[in-house]
Amino acid sequence: MSDRSQDAGQDAPRRTLPILQVGDPVLRERAREVSPEELPELQGLIDDMIATMREAGGAGLAANQVGDLHRILVAEVDGNPRYPYKPPLPLTVMVNPVLEPVGDATLPIIEGCLSVPELRGELARFAAIRVRYLDRDGTPREQAFEGLSAGTFQHEVDHLDGILFLDRVKDPRTFMTWEEFDRHHRDAWLERIGLP
Ligand code: ZN
Repeated sequence: MSDRSQDAGQDAPRRTLPILQVGDPVLRERAREVSPEELPELQGLIDDMIATMREAGGAGLAANQVGDLHRILVAEVDGNPRYPYKPPLPLTVMVNPVLEPVGDATLPIIEGCLSVPELRGELARFAAIRVRYLDRDGTPREQAFEGLSAGTFQHEVDHLDGILFLDRVKDPRTFMTWEEFDRHHRDAWLERIGLP
């Protein structure tokens, strides 16, 4: 995947978009469902979201974060320097994702967000989920995810509902900068969730 133009479709010019930051009211709005008829005109937005996520080094990006209120998210993990411990996740585009937990087990995740500069914090995510969605061509899909990948999709679907990870942090004492995460918390947390 050295030539990224291969997976972005067509020859549409790809732009990176500014990422809204916490405090912008659009991050607090619920994005609306997309009808399949709208998908052709949303392909450029999807390409721009992919380019924006890659440039920012994010594992995922929701439309609200670039100031759009369609229920669309993109996710990808491919040797991400921002999240070196996350398992690889092929590029996934979800339209109208509907997420349900599989079982009650949760995982404590120390999350960050491209819309929240500097801060990470600990919250609980379901350890296994199932997501029904349309792909970018409008084909219905259903997919199961677990572990940190399940967490990524819960984080992005939250964005589409106007929820930020900050809202779900139970203990504000777990807020930390990325630098202090690496320095003081990363190893113990990875051990706690059973990752190398
Ligand atoms: Zn986020």
